Amino acid sequence: MIRRLRDLRPGELEGREWPLVIAGAGMAGITLAASLPEDLPVLLLEGGGEHYDPRSQDVYAGRIDGHPYFPLVQTRLRFLGGSSNHWAGWCRPLDAEDFDAPPSGELPGWPFGIQELEPWAEKASEILELPALAETPPAARAWEELFAGLPSFGNAPFRFSPPTRFAARFADLLRDRSALQVLLGANLVGLDFERSRVSHLRVRAFGQAPRKLKARALVLAMGGIENPRFLLNQSLPAGGAPGDQGGLLGACFSEHPHFVLGAFVLEDHALRALRQARQALDPLACHRYLAPLPGEARQAGAIGLRFEAWDPANSDTFRGRLKRLLCARDWSRDLVENLRGEALHCGDGVLKGAAEQPQRPQSRVRLGSEVDELGLRRPTLDWKLQREDKDLLRRQALRMGQELALCGIARLRLPEWLLEEDDHFPLFPQEELAGHHHMGTTRISQDPMVGVCDPQGRVHGLDNLFVAGSSLFPRCGYANPSFTIVQLALRQAQFLRPCLL
Ligand SMILES: Cc1cc2nc3c(=O)[nH]c(=O)nc-3n(C[C@H](O)[C@H](O)[C@H](O)COP(=O)(O)OP(=O)(O)OC[C@H]3O[C@@H](n4cnc5c(N)ncnc54)[C@H](O)[C@@H]3O)c2cc1C
Repeated sequence: MIRRLRDLRPGELEGREWPLVIAGAGMAGITLAASLPEDLPVLLLEGGGEHYDPRSQDVYAGRIDGHPYFPLVQTRLRFLGGSSNHWAGWCRPLDAEDFDAPPSGELPGWPFGIQELEPWAEKASEILELPALAETPPAARAWEELFAGLPSFGNAPFRFSPPTRFAARFADLLRDRSALQVLLGANLVGLDFERSRVSHLRVRAFGQAPRKLKARALVLAMGGIENPRFLLNQSLPAGGAPGDQGGLLGACFSEHPHFVLGAFVLEDHALRALRQARQALDPLACHRYLAPLPGEARQAGAIGLRFEAWDPANSDTFRGRLKRLLCARDWSRDLVENLRGEALHCGDGVLKGAAEQPQRPQSRVRLGSEVDELGLRRPTLDWKLQREDKDLLRRQALRMGQELALCGIARLRLPEWLLEEDDHFPLFPQEELAGHHHMGTTRISQDPMVGVCDPQGRVHGLDNLFVAGSSLFPRCGYANPSFTIVQLALRQAQFLRPCLL
């Protein structure tokens, strides 16, 4: 049943103890709610309404410190379905190597192996409406096989969700499941604690006084910036914020830096293979997705590489020939770039990379001094994108360039900014910059000194407070996070079930 908090009578919510309250109806919150037993009374709180509303969205505004980033008010959406209302649909599970211990000197990684998430892969694919990986048609095989000979890189295919909009996909269930109450305009604003439990939670609609509810368990599924921001706004009776024993609440904010790492020119036989492939496949399916193979190449840094070849037919058009002319000299290329305000990528296509960032405590979500309309301090994001991140991109791009040349596939030209060994990155809008992936800020670990939540997502030190979503990731790999978010939420539903019945 879907209702609005402001339409409820006083006392209508307060007079009972809910077995489970979930705050946040995005991918994580909806997956969790939908995967619990049908007859379990669950309250799903959604701060926004059914559609975009500037007043609700404004609660997401915040400051950017550190490396420039997307405005916080734009990099997520605050209404039913959350950021699934504007995600792009790229899906891939983490690799087995992402669960290995990180290099020494870094914080510990996943407290379990990939086999802990694998049982949820099929269900996650179904929820995200992912097609099976298609078999390559014979005409495209020569193009695919070109890359099979690269010594350090292997196939790392993505699957594409339509993209699934969670509010629409689960509309019937959210409306019809009688034990599930979905409350819109219901903003979680505070928690009261009694010993090691959340005793009450406070929920309010805009312009109304908060209401106090009781729950046996509460899951925060409000997104990778909002989960830590909300917790940082709370104080335990003994002082300090929940889960912050090790000082890591909001810390370790990690993204996937996204950059164009070079432009390539294909050898004649590779160009022929591409032309054939384009007759059999749509342009998107012609892109090759590659990643370093396990071993030395992978240890040099996790990165997803997209070999994006343009339509060879375009090179014979007026625009194609003009571009070739402008690309022939550095000065003419620079002139065009300065006039257009964006890079002119020359050649037959570009190599794009999305890399893993090691989790760094100093890269973090903090509280700013401004307060939002609901009385919570706004977030400040201090994202650290630094020299080591650039070193990884350069190292892997150079390795790819060498192997493309050695295998007689293509020549890769790296952009000048990438060749310079410093911490300078090009600023968007010329480049993609990152993926809007907000990870690591309530990382899981068995040890409360290096994690905010335990391996089940329970906030350390509190028996009935849980977190869901990518803020739990203690290592991010290079794959986009949503597939893993859904797997984790399905896993959480399984272990929460017996605790709540
Ligand atoms: C432009 C864009 C493209 C993307 N493309 C991809 C992609 O291709 N592949 C991929 O894997 N990922 C992608 N992502 C990331 C992906 O969308 C997110 O990782 C994912 O949606 C996060 O889901 P979530 O449920 O954890 O959080 P959210 O979707 O942020 O949901 C949180 C929910 O909590 C609600 N909420 C917040 N505060 C409160 C409160 N106080 N009380 C009650 N409710 C509250 C919000 O309204 C929202 O509905 C993209 C993101 C963006 C912005």
